[in-house]
Amino acid sequence: MGAEENFERVCALLGEEAGRHGLKEVMGVAPFSSVYKALMPVQRVRLREFSSDSFDELLKNGSIVSIAFAYPEHAVDSIAVGSEGSYDRERWNVYAREYIRLNEALNETSSRIASEIGGVTIPATSEGIAAEISCVEDYYPLVVSHRVAAEQSGVGWRGKNELIVNPRFSCAIRLASVLTTLPLRRTPPATMGCGDCHACLDACPILRNKEKLRNYREQCRLYLVSLGLVSDVCGKCVKACYRESIHRDRFRL
Ligand code: SF4
Ligand code: SF4
Repeated sequence: MGAEENFERVCALLGEEAGRHGLKEVMGVAPFSSVYKALMPVQRVRLREFSSDSFDELLKNGSIVSIAFAYPEHAVDSIAVGSEGSYDRERWNVYAREYIRLNEALNETSSRIASEIGGVTIPATSEGIAAEISCVEDYYPLVVSHRVAAEQSGVGWRGKNELIVNPRFSCAIRLASVLTTLPLRRTPPATMGCGDCHACLDACPILRNKEKLRNYREQCRLYLVSLGLVSDVCGKCVKACYRESIHRDRFRL
């Protein structure tokens, strides 16, 4: 089969899995080489490990399929209800539980796609990792950034909150990736961007001061661990993007 037919086949597999899990989906395909080059060096090492003996072939002709499932709208609306100090944690846990469910759905889906097209899965970033590490730098060598693959494949653009913003779902998505040497049509990077929007920066002092803080990612990690939800999430910058951004009228979960 040619690159276009293979692309349609992967879309159909993803659509089937999305239906089975009751979720909405989006995908893109980037050249393996462009993702590899865009990764930080420590994550290139991790990508080589995932690629194993196929690395040279992947670098020459391979692709990375970036897949995403969107959060249900009610989950995003359950984030940070109330005010600082008196948030409704039980309600917030609706979002935290969906985070776990989306990760599980992504891992099942990416495994199925990898086994049917001949590829390797890079699973969704697992829950619990933020609490287990002692600082955010410990995290980088453990993972390959799905965001880089999503950016390179046009699943979305890099938002001011550093998440991937999909033109339909906002940044209320979770990501996984599949490496494959199967010929696939590629999808170009997104042309949209945040523009003058600053809704996520307004929602979070850590983000707002990210240029001034020595390591804003570490501050974020400490904050979300401190919330003590059933998974290590916060999501205030996700909700702000979906509900308050200048693009809010085009977003639909
Ligand atoms: S997850 Fe929470 S603490 Fe982290 S950047 Fe987003 S809003 Fe700020
Ligand atoms: S809230 Fe606005 S600035 Fe922040 S990521 Fe979304 S679109 Fe970009």
